[in-house]
Amino acid sequence: MRRCDDRFVKVLPGVRKGSLINSHRILGMKTLASIKCPKCAGPVTFDTGTKLVKCSYCDSQIFIDRSGAGFYYAVPFMVSEADAIGLFKRWAAGSTRAKDLDKRAEVAGANKQYFPVYMFKRDVKGREEVLIEPAGSTTLPGLHELKVPAGDLKIFDATFDTSGAELINPDIEMLSYMDSLPGEAKEQALVYFPIWRLDYVFEQKRYEVVIDASTGEVFSANFPARSSTSYMIVAIIGFLAFAFEGILALSSLMTAVTLMVLTVLGIFAISFYVARRL
Ligand SMILES: [Zn+2]
Repeated sequence: MRRCDDRFVKVLPGVRKGSLINSHRILGMKTLASIKCPKCAGPVTFDTGTKLVKCSYCDSQIFIDRSGAGFYYAVPFMVSEADAIGLFKRWAAGSTRAKDLDKRAEVAGANKQYFPVYMFKRDVKGREEVLIEPAGSTTLPGLHELKVPAGDLKIFDATFDTSGAELINPDIEMLSYMDSLPGEAKEQALVYFPIWRLDYVFEQKRYEVVIDASTGEVFSANFPARSSTSYMIVAIIGFLAFAFEGILALSSLMTAVTLMVLTVLGIFAISFYVARRL
């Protein structure tokens, strides 16, 4: 890693030429620097305290980190609010979810958001790897597992339609990830990722799910799970019945075998009922 004379900037291998901050001066309280726009190469002057700057020549939004300047992308929303609720209902009907969660959960709010993530393109032993890391601090589930669909990236500039989604500001430095990434840097960018955040209420408790509005995948950290108590009771009854029949077999084998067959059939029937009804 070489260092340029600017003490604010670490020059990283693979950062696009011309995208580096090449000067800075003190003007009053502000430290100004300039870069070349990665799209049109026009000079862009900015305050080093800011991360986002707009090119006055081509209107591109440029993302600036201490590692340099990069493009700013967004993935379009492919999932409408109605689709998001439909995906949630389908997910809620899954077998590990509480019984009738799909029917009894009340959707309390749907927030359309653009969540910022960093996209790192790395050269790992001659192979390109794309890594996604959150650029905003969050406790929301799934945001560490997002997959950015390469073909769907759109340059985020003045003409990009955010379709009413709330933009979440990045508050994690790109540089904080750079040291722990594999391989060599090829390119890095900030990507606005489309999500729906759904709040729902089930038995007076509030839960939250995140829906990837590009692929429709549903992420949830905790949710009302199907109770396993009824299965436990069936298992205990079965165990006690077999224990009793085992003792009975010592005196009356035929009666015990008949009872064991009935116990197995009975347990199958009860388990089936529990699976369907409870
Ligand atoms: Zn430009």
